[in-house]
Amino acid sequence: MTSTRSVKGMNDLLPADSSKWQRVEQSLKSVLNSYGYSEIRFPILEKTELFRRSIGEVTDIVEKEMYTFPDRNDENLTLRPEGTAGCVRACIQNSLLNSGPLRLWYNGPMFRYERPQKGRMRQFHQFGVECFGMTGPDIDAEVIAMTAAFWRALGVAEAVTLEINSLGTSASRQAHKKALIEYFETHKSVLDEDSQRRLDTNPLRILDTKNPEMQDLVESAPKLSEYMDEESRIHFEGLCQLLDQLDISYRVNHRLVRGLDYYSKTVFEWVTDALGAQGTVCGGGRYDGLIPQLGGPETPALGFGLGVERLMLLVEEINPGFLQQQAVDIFVIASDQEVTQALQLAEKIRIAEPRLSVVVNCGGGSFKSQFKKADRSGAELALILGEDEVRESRVTLKYLREKKDQESLTLDEALNRLRSL
Ligand code: ATP
Ligand code: MG
Repeated sequence: MTSTRSVKGMNDLLPADSSKWQRVEQSLKSVLNSYGYSEIRFPILEKTELFRRSIGEVTDIVEKEMYTFPDRNDENLTLRPEGTAGCVRACIQNSLLNSGPLRLWYNGPMFRYERPQKGRMRQFHQFGVECFGMTGPDIDAEVIAMTAAFWRALGVAEAVTLEINSLGTSASRQAHKKALIEYFETHKSVLDEDSQRRLDTNPLRILDTKNPEMQDLVESAPKLSEYMDEESRIHFEGLCQLLDQLDISYRVNHRLVRGLDYYSKTVFEWVTDALGAQGTVCGGGRYDGLIPQLGGPETPALGFGLGVERLMLLVEEINPGFLQQQAVDIFVIASDQEVTQALQLAEKIRIAEPRLSVVVNCGGGSFKSQFKKADRSGAELALILGEDEVRESRVTLKYLREKKDQESLTLDEALNRLRSL
């Protein structure tokens, strides 16, 4: 039976959970809307080269996490491991970058070949945001303020903290890189295999290590802030000031480097200790150099990715009430002879009150079994159509969750009653 099971680390989203996801997605979308963002959709598959060139060769993603395969024409394609590369590619290709600032968002599946565990899947989902054409730090602060608004909307603000850092410009990173290489060279015996390999190519990534035996070593490594150029320093101070003025608390974490090569200046993460090891819910930063590097016009940019699975776990843990939603409002019960009237009544209600969810008992059965189904559906109300009701053009309304007498109503009276639900 293994061929009829899903790919490891790729989960189904079942009806019991999909309504919870929809609630969370809806909240995020309404916050995005309130900040003036527009949605962009781009393919799940891109040429492998795009990710190699943007994310960087010496990164976890490109070295070992990408789903890459040749298509029938032997072109190398990759299932997107993140959204920024595809979004930037789409904006360059469609000449969106020449007509002023852009605020974009997207939501969809991403793919990484990782060891599946809680909060870490091979197919997972991200809400992503990318802003183009603004140098900051004002937009950096606004983007972070919007993420803070996400947490408030979902009732999880108490459980997340903001970490920020600046990676400086590529010139200051070069100077820092030299110092890092010298430092790690003198402590080479403490480096694990991954870090040894990265020593010459991407020593900054060594700072990101999760190896407990290397924590002391990286803690006392040369800090980028000591090599920071003037422009980046002013940018970062500006950001800190704006965050203070917007009442957003943060912690400066000098070791925050993020796992992708394209970042410069501002980087940030929202972390939680409510989810064990997979503590980063949202991460992003500025990537001013990426667009020209991919053949587009010189354009300042920043963005972030938010892992939806981790966010769902967090909301479930911190504010589960938010996820409880009445799936069905009204359940229509009818005797076998009155099925047509039941379908017609449901249509009328849906037209009059489109926000209500109306389910008709289809498939017949005794009143007793229909009431059981109504109860299980979670509906507030049952509308009952028997022979007597139809003859008198009335309907019986029964409250399924409250101790109230059932009532016999005309159709107009029933519709009026539903209006106030
Ligand atoms: P981590 O350090 O946890 O591996 P990352 O730095 O690789 O995260 P990003 O590339 O910054 O993650 O992606 C942004 C967000 O997407 C993460 O903060 C996380 O919430 C989510 N995410 C990343 N990888 C996975 C995964 N394999 N499964 C579920 N969510 C993920
Ligand atoms: Mg990762």
